[in-house]
Amino acid sequence: MEHIITNYIKKHSNSTIRNRAQYINVKLMTLDTNSYSFSYKGSERQPYTINISTDSNGIISSCTCPYDYEGICKHEIAALLYIKDTLLKLQQMNKNLFGENLKKTHITKLS
Ligand SMILES: [Zn+2]
Repeated sequence: MEHIITNYIKKHSNSTIRNRAQYINVKLMTLDTNSYSFSYKGSERQPYTINISTDSNGIISSCTCPYDYEGICKHEIAALLYIKDTLLKLQQMNKNLFGENLKKTHITKLS
């Protein structure tokens, strides 16, 4: 999944917008079965809403900000990176908690 996110970002953005996305902290609002919704308080009165979902063709992203250039905006990238980082963290937690440590506990109990 991380590669799909990385490829999607690369395909739909240039390095300038990717650099800008690093300074954006989006807030996770809702988690549905196939879509994640984020919020970001930009320069406009209303916060921007960023939606990330998937279908059989891959990732679909959108944002309510006024960005009107080619590709995806920095908020969409920030939201995608949030998902990617969370996935990596969960994998690590899963490995730490239920991987090596659990195996060791199991072995200790057996011996
Ligand atoms: Zn945006």
